[in-house]
Amino acid sequence: MRFMGEYIRGVVVKLHVTPEQEVMFKQNYGCTRKTHNELLNKYKAKYGDCNKIPTKNELNQFLNESKKELPYLKETESTSLQQARDDLHKAFKNSFKSKRHNPPKFHSKKKTRPSFRQTIRKDKRPVEKNTLTLRKHGEVTFSTSVEYLDLLNSPDTKFNNITVYYDGLNHYASFNIKTQPPEQLPLTEEHIGCDINSNKNGWLVTSEGQKEFFDVDHDNQMIKHINRLISKCRNMSRRWKKLQKRLQKWYNKRTNQLNDYIEKLTYNLVKKYDTIVFEENYSTIKILIGGEENMIFPLSRFIKRLKDKFQLYKPGADGVQFVKPHNTSRTCHHCGHINKELKVKKRNWKCPKCGKILDRDTNAAINILNRWFNGDGLIKYLN
Ligand SMILES: [Zn+2]
Repeated sequence: MRFMGEYIRGVVVKLHVTPEQEVMFKQNYGCTRKTHNELLNKYKAKYGDCNKIPTKNELNQFLNESKKELPYLKETESTSLQQARDDLHKAFKNSFKSKRHNPPKFHSKKKTRPSFRQTIRKDKRPVEKNTLTLRKHGEVTFSTSVEYLDLLNSPDTKFNNITVYYDGLNHYASFNIKTQPPEQLPLTEEHIGCDINSNKNGWLVTSEGQKEFFDVDHDNQMIKHINRLISKCRNMSRRWKKLQKRLQKWYNKRTNQLNDYIEKLTYNLVKKYDTIVFEENYSTIKILIGGEENMIFPLSRFIKRLKDKFQLYKPGADGVQFVKPHNTSRTCHHCGHINKELKVKKRNWKCPKCGKILDRDTNAAINILNRWFNGDGLIKYLN
């Protein structure tokens, strides 16, 4: 069944800004950051470090005071300052709700990604073909895929808000939209076990022997190379600035590749299988991707995207399941013999009891799947 407007998703497009808009955007980023810091400052001045959530009214009062003290805040787009106020309020509420969220911190110029968020005008659609109309900043053209362009121009799409951000090279608009949920996928009655490893034999090996690799070695080498060049030139020189841009390009490319890879892989797995079984200790496994740059593969994001996609495309399936991890690689999937002598490094082994030759990771993945089928070591997750 499909319900209108129940599906909320994010869409990011690249903006083509004029030099005048670039100046206005940067001013808007700066004012948003300043507002956040000013409100936090005023909160600290009033309450110190005592644990109290400020009310929305209080924060609004702080905002009005800040605008009086710093008249330049009035020159920038005003709903983005209100959004900064609301974000701060949310950050306070979250930090009190759960210990996982830290209390709000000051936004530093270096460490915080420049961004501002605007609310949508009720009287006007913000997107017309490939043009975005922002409050105060006017019309900006953008480029994106045909699929996203259709989605943004569809009369079924409702816009919640628009975030504009800068990655050091380009400006982007991130839309938070309500739209029709996508067509659901049919159940396949196929189930799979997955073994996750930090080794070079594939970071993910399935019970069907499929091995997944993710390779960004070339990008990592380029990043290393450019970093070496940067270390040799004078800070803030023309060449230094040029190299910084090139470096940023490679960082962005690497991040995009990783995101695309995760999105494609999770979609294909959800399309093919109704159940995907993992060991419950996956969150303790660290997969380093690429030499000294030491980028860590975001495993928990991978699992979360799988869960999200099952919910979206196959809500009737068992989806992501977990079993207890003990002895999955030591047990022979064929006869059940547990080989206690098995060394960690051994990739292939011959079962001493039945003589079957086993690929360590595929064998483990089959055991993981069987464990789920048999219901032993099954961990019930509520979400
Ligand atoms: Zn055996």
